[in-house]
Amino acid sequence: MFKKDGHTHTRFSHHGSNERLDDYIEQAIALGFTEYVVTEHAPLPADFLANFTGPAAAQSGSAMLSTELVDYQKEVARVQKKYADQIHIKSGFEVDYLQAYEPVIRQFLMAQADWLDEIVLSVHFLPNHDHLVAPIDFDPETLAAYFPEIKHAPQAVFENYLTTIKKSLDFAATLPNQFVIRIGHVTLIRKYQKYFDLPPFDASNQVRIDHLLLQIKNDHFQLDLNTAGLRKPYNGETYPTTDIIKKARDLEIEMVYGSDAHEASAVGQDYHVVDSFLKKLK
Ligand SMILES: [Zn+2]
Ligand SMILES: [Zn+2]
Repeated sequence: MFKKDGHTHTRFSHHGSNERLDDYIEQAIALGFTEYVVTEHAPLPADFLANFTGPAAAQSGSAMLSTELVDYQKEVARVQKKYADQIHIKSGFEVDYLQAYEPVIRQFLMAQADWLDEIVLSVHFLPNHDHLVAPIDFDPETLAAYFPEIKHAPQAVFENYLTTIKKSLDFAATLPNQFVIRIGHVTLIRKYQKYFDLPPFDASNQVRIDHLLLQIKNDHFQLDLNTAGLRKPYNGETYPTTDIIKKARDLEIEMVYGSDAHEASAVGQDYHVVDSFLKKLK
């Protein structure tokens, strides 16, 4: 039976565990996965890092360094070979969409094209009212510091997030269609929903989500069915939430389970939750 974890990290993320990639892969094999995509955070553009406007800890701890790229690729190649008869390991990146750096991101991906099997395209950084670009998933304090509206006008922050995802889709549509592109955790803006007691998306934001799904469908992108939120104390849901998964299913969008594991024990977690939900929808 085909069983895939399409969103996983390694020690190169600098915000997860230091375990060997072998430990992640062996966990996947033990759980019966047949396909595994290593999607470490691709290096952030050098100019973005040089002019970083978010918190200092997020600057060095959000992605692999460009100097680690070669080691990362060697590491993926090594496990591909080592476990070739047990599991199909694909090479990938989780790529940050940053509106101001589209040409740099495109150039990076084109340079990696021969090596790269799959991309998870994600929005973790948003511009705020002062044109500072800051992470939305670092911690609740950072979110509130850069996006104070999250407390009194959360729909405006949701709108900012969903509009940025829309831009990421427009960008992805300009990439050559040799790339397999999966849109990452499209409701990540809700990560701290219990902390801030966030309301559901209002009607306008629901419409934005409907439009995103249509665009994902029409451009043949995939949707990351990400269970990391289930493990987060302030979230407790999948990304996206089940109502959106249902809509995506109705549109026949290809959805790929992703544990978003930052430690070996998280590989494959809650696979059964999304699997049984999807089976119920049939
Ligand atoms: Zn992510
Ligand atoms: Zn991730």
